[in-house]
Amino acid sequence: MTDILAQIAQHQADIAAAEAPNAEALEAFRIQYLGTKGLVKTLMGEMKNVPNEQKREFGQILNAFKLAAEERFETLKAALESNTEFSFDYDISLPGDPLPLGSRHPISMVRNRIVDIFKRLGFAVAEGPEIEDDWHNFGALNLPEDHPARDMQDTFYISQDPAWLLRTHTSNVQIREMEKGKLPIRLIMPGKVYRNETISARAHCFFHQVEGLYVAENVSFADLKQTLYFFVKEMFGQDVKVRFRPSYFPFTEPSAEMDISCLICGGKGCNVCKHTGWVEILGCGMVHPNVLQNCGIDPNKYTGFAFGMGIERITMLKYQVKDLRLFSENDVRFLRQFTGA
Ligand SMILES: [Zn+2]
Repeated sequence: MTDILAQIAQHQADIAAAEAPNAEALEAFRIQYLGTKGLVKTLMGEMKNVPNEQKREFGQILNAFKLAAEERFETLKAALESNTEFSFDYDISLPGDPLPLGSRHPISMVRNRIVDIFKRLGFAVAEGPEIEDDWHNFGALNLPEDHPARDMQDTFYISQDPAWLLRTHTSNVQIREMEKGKLPIRLIMPGKVYRNETISARAHCFFHQVEGLYVAENVSFADLKQTLYFFVKEMFGQDVKVRFRPSYFPFTEPSAEMDISCLICGGKGCNVCKHTGWVEILGCGMVHPNVLQNCGIDPNKYTGFAFGMGIERITMLKYQVKDLRLFSENDVRFLRQFTGA
């Protein structure tokens, strides 16, 4: 009996001195003293060897020992938990890693600028699906299946169902808006478009467009010209010269392409303008009566104009970017140059 009491006293001293610098040490402490084969259980087993008249006293000593072990365990556990929360193996007074500030993509900047300019003229923004059916991308735009102009816009068809394709222009949104039949319509439609083109410095299999559409009574070509004059002066500056050239699109009649005086050489002639002094920036025209009719609008009552431009092209002119592929390569050395723009 005296032996055991001496042992318990020693263990109690050990417990009071025990430390748990980490979770493993804490678990080892628990197993040693409080586990199913731990010291507390073992000593409880000694009870049967203790003479009856001493059982009471021994029981009290054992209980005190058990409590001491449990309390020490809780203390160590609490200390460890509060410790992990604030323990750093690095110097928290060092300055942090700088978070580099991103910038808008040049295509986004120019698209927003275009949208802003037309908003001031009362144009609202409309968007539509990039996966489109043949009717909204071609048919309704006066481009029936055998129309040769379809070759100008070779596209990607959905292999499971060739009735669906990736839109070749944002004109599908024009059709969808006109089909709603709410007139007048004054909208611009920015978005991504797809064409089966060989990727080069001047062409890509996907790019961005902004198209505009104004349909109401008595809309004339003069309205179209004034709207686009305003846009160009706002976009490129008051000194830019503009010219219209007759052109052909199946969905407009008459059709025109608009050039601006070369921003690089100021009209004297350089590589960018192929020494003509002019660069083409958009196509436009009066909405073809067939297109209006296809959308359920009476061409005898309403007229309209439409225009479309490539955002990449405008961006290349505005920021003098020579290769269209740079826009989609995600090279930060290129993108960083627009941080201040
Ligand atoms: Zn030039």
